[in-house]
Amino acid sequence: CEIALVNINEKILDVNANFDFMFCPCLIDTKRKDIEALPDKSIAITLFNGAIRTDENEEMAHLLRKKTQILIAFGSCSAEGCIPGLANLYSSDELMKTVYIESPTVDNPRGLIPSSENKVREGTLNIPAFYPSVKTLSQVTDVDFFVPGCPPEPHQIWNIIEAVIQGAELPPKGSVLGGGKSSVCDECKRIKEDKKIKRFFRTYEIIPDQEKCLLEQGIICMGIATRDGCGALCPKVNMPCTGCYGPPHGVLDQGAKMVAALGSILDIGDIKGLEEKEINQKIDEIFKTIPD
Ligand code: SF4
Repeated sequence: CEIALVNINEKILDVNANFDFMFCPCLIDTKRKDIEALPDKSIAITLFNGAIRTDENEEMAHLLRKKTQILIAFGSCSAEGCIPGLANLYSSDELMKTVYIESPTVDNPRGLIPSSENKVREGTLNIPAFYPSVKTLSQVTDVDFFVPGCPPEPHQIWNIIEAVIQGAELPPKGSVLGGGKSSVCDECKRIKEDKKIKRFFRTYEIIPDQEKCLLEQGIICMGIATRDGCGALCPKVNMPCTGCYGPPHGVLDQGAKMVAALGSILDIGDIKGLEEKEINQKIDEIFKTIPD
């Protein structure tokens, strides 16, 4: 997300002309105590990227909320959990075991697991405490706007910054900025015909037709259940949409929307005279071709 900000290219000069960078570990060496010393609400905008996984993440969220006029959950991790959110499928003990003990590249004969407090000869060392689950920014503090994308697209970032520079009226608090009101399918140029799918493929299993809808070719493309605004970048280069822009406008549960879409396009063949159990088996056979 921080690199995406730099990808606004020469517009970064306009950002520089209108703002001072206060805190950006990727670019400048401001310390936490420097931010703590600022008057409240003295930062115009904070683009907060990353999900909340540790107590330090949460402390920074509260601190930046206090010091900021417009707090934006910037990027999918901060807005919706994104890839770090997948860790919520497992307990923190399972995660620690996988990362520090079972991973084939780890050499840890004593089976040590990091803990937030460590006694060493010189005293006690503290590292951020690991939460049992990942939270989004709005689950720990009050957020003004949400900007989706993994990462957000540079032209969308610039539109937001420009609106603030020009003093334009911003949408109501809680709005999603930098995304459209439709779905990725609507901005995808691939040819869409009748979707009927007999089985699914992972991207390495077939070489998809460059012109036709990927979902029609059996590749799980989330465009149908994902907010537009990215320009359908992934389908453009033969990769399925993984849904990083979040649910389309008016859809609460992106996963449920996608499951409903998949349910409506399965082709399980002729079911005349079949028992319900046999129909379910046919459906299961197709769903087994979806790895996750
Ligand atoms: Fe494009 Fe994917 Fe939608 Fe098909 S499902 S139209 S490939 S975005």
